Amino acid sequence: MAVRGGGVIGLSVALFAARAGFSVSLCDLGSPHAGSRVAGGMLAPVSEAWPGEETVTAQGVEALAMWPEFAASLNVGLFNNGTMVVGVSPGDLDDLRRIAGLFNDPSVGLLNNRAIRQLEPTLGPAVRGGMLVAGDLAVDNRELLSALHKACAEEGVTFQSDVDAKVTVIAAGAWSGELHPALKNVIRPVKGEILRLTHRPGALPPPSRTIRGSVHGRSIYLVPRKGGVVVGATQYEAGFDTDVSVAGVRDLLRDAETVLPGIAEYALTEAAVGFRAGSPDNVPIVRWLEPGVIAATGHHRNGLLLAPHTARLVVELIEGGSS
Ligand SMILES: Cc1cc2nc3c(=O)[nH]c(=O)nc-3n(C[C@H](O)[C@H](O)[C@H](O)COP(=O)(O)OP(=O)(O)OC[C@H]3O[C@@H](n4cnc5c(N)ncnc54)[C@H](O)[C@@H]3O)c2cc1C
Repeated sequence: MAVRGGGVIGLSVALFAARAGFSVSLCDLGSPHAGSRVAGGMLAPVSEAWPGEETVTAQGVEALAMWPEFAASLNVGLFNNGTMVVGVSPGDLDDLRRIAGLFNDPSVGLLNNRAIRQLEPTLGPAVRGGMLVAGDLAVDNRELLSALHKACAEEGVTFQSDVDAKVTVIAAGAWSGELHPALKNVIRPVKGEILRLTHRPGALPPPSRTIRGSVHGRSIYLVPRKGGVVVGATQYEAGFDTDVSVAGVRDLLRDAETVLPGIAEYALTEAAVGFRAGSPDNVPIVRWLEPGVIAATGHHRNGLLLAPHTARLVVELIEGGSS
């Protein structure tokens, strides 16, 4: 089989298929704006949940359960201290209550101002309350991509273009619409800007878990990394615009600093643009498009999280046949 696209979805599909005994080749155009490369790395179906997106949330919860074994098979570490979701204004705290209400889950609990500061002492004074989502995970997405490459190579996946294959899997993220008429004008790029900050001597340490903030209605997240933090992310319908905008960086830094003032002493080491693959209903498209062609795209804000889930589904589709 042939996989077109070497982001987290294409690589995971290739790996699962190779492990299932298929002969696999993968071709990638190496875009620096691949969502997988720039992403924050949250594996967080609960704190990403929103009314109306129940299908994606349910898929995400299933995918999250696959991650400990998936990561262990790749020798990739996971951040497993959960997510703290915090709010600033009364309206922000209402949003948190709404998210908590979607889950009848004792691991999702609203906490008062004192309790959140006991867990994360460096939160800013404007933060008024929060919620701990204990089950969320996070991963260093670039470490994950390297590990997936290595594992694919070890399983015999070849990296080449122009192969004649019985089955082709289209996994080219936001670019998938260019690869099949059934995806044209269905998959669209959703631009996102994201920052990487590096800890400097004397600065307060990075948080011990992912912090998501609702800051006067705007969303912000800070995902810890070894030696720093990733701050994301803006979201625009702007086609394939690759510019990092002044307004995007300003908003991200302002809101991140409201949540964690200590980051002002960090170094701003990267500002990047990546493209999410939007689908009409934000639900991924993982199905046969025609005999011999499978789509595995449209993962929007959750492609890292959903990767093992999608990869398993694609192998099941191939084993079941196109009928
Ligand atoms: C700012 C930002 C933050 C995000 N944060 C998170 C997060 O915290 N958690 C999460 O789960 N998800 C997150 N996402 C979403 C996630 O990154 C995507 O859903 C995921 O990367 C989709 O993976 P993919 O492999 O489908 O696409 P991509 O990662 O975009 O990869 C597509 C690949 O296809 C290649 N390609 C393009 N055209 C062709 C062609 N013609 N032939 C062959 N190859 C081609 C490209 O070079 C690219 O490598 C974020 C996205 C963005 C933009």
